[in-house]
Amino acid sequence: MVQQFKRIGVLTSGGDAPGMNAAVRAVVRQARDHDVEVMAIYEGYKGLIEGNVRLFDMRDVSNIINHGGTILYSARSPEFKTEEGMQKAIDTCKKHGIEGIVTIGGDGTFRGATDLSRRGIPCIGVPGTIDNDIASTDYTIGYDTAMNTAIQMVDRLRDTCESHFRCNVVEIMGRNSGYIALNVGLATGAAQIVVNELPFDEERMYDEILIGKKRGKRHYIIMVSEGMQGYAEKLTENIQLHTGVETRFTRLGHVVRGGSPTLRDRVIASRMGIAAVNLLLEGRSNMVICMHGEDIEALDIEYALTIDHMYKGKIKEGELERYSIDDIQSMRHYCAKKAADFKTLYNQALDISQ
Ligand code: ADP
Repeated sequence: MVQQFKRIGVLTSGGDAPGMNAAVRAVVRQARDHDVEVMAIYEGYKGLIEGNVRLFDMRDVSNIINHGGTILYSARSPEFKTEEGMQKAIDTCKKHGIEGIVTIGGDGTFRGATDLSRRGIPCIGVPGTIDNDIASTDYTIGYDTAMNTAIQMVDRLRDTCESHFRCNVVEIMGRNSGYIALNVGLATGAAQIVVNELPFDEERMYDEILIGKKRGKRHYIIMVSEGMQGYAEKLTENIQLHTGVETRFTRLGHVVRGGSPTLRDRVIASRMGIAAVNLLLEGRSNMVICMHGEDIEALDIEYALTIDHMYKGKIKEGELERYSIDDIQSMRHYCAKKAADFKTLYNQALDISQ
């Protein structure tokens, strides 16, 4: 390992996610293990601009692995996207001897990391968001905890639906990604799952609810992803109208963002934090930690963001020009497989939903 640093920084940015603390802890411990100091940067890029930083030691990360949220706090910082804001951030790094940064967050956080890397502050991104909406990685920190919190809540709704012969439409977080809705829907035996990635046959759902009703089924959970943007409330009215089953609406919002991280989130966050520090110490920059299967790997951030744009159908003009034909083929293959896997799981969930 080529040790190039005396001091690095760590920040959490964008939406918080359970497990971020485990990642921060791993970064501090791994760095200290290599005699590198760690500056805590509070409130993400906002804190970097304002110089809200503090030297961390092992005691600062004691007893945090089990805590939700982020002890470094998080904030949005539009100023960071401006030239002036970026310069202030770099000035803070110079002033406090921060020679590289581990940035924990979502795709917005990674774009910020790219800007800093380009200006001479090496950054390594760690994916932290409950939404699992970063296409270049199979897993983002917080995803498992959010889903486990959600299934406990939906199980409770099911109990009361069963008692009262009701349907409950549940809208669940995930921004534009249906991963949480799909998995939680499957895990709670939802009668229907509605995600913005795939078409949904409303009429067929009514028929199936009526068939269930005849069979004596007394509870119906309809799981709708946040990406459907307000559709869940309309659907609640429609179900009652078309089937006569009393239907309620529940939105599982920020409540699924908090809480003690699950084993999976603690383990993966720790592994990702260690990997990020190792990359910095190897002299690497502008990379993002990704999980493929059970392997922790790293990709160039811009390559990872291009995969993300490709998966979401948001490739910008000229974006692919810097890549070879082989790279583009491999990105296309990766995205196609990811979409196919999502569809397979969706079909499996629906196959056993009635
Ligand atoms: P997430 O990281 O979860 O996607 P945001 O999109 O809010 O969350 O991004 C977090 C922060 O990253 C923003 O507040 C901003 O400071 C920075 N950021 C976001 N997009 C960019 C960008 N295009 N260029 C530079 N910095 C960005």
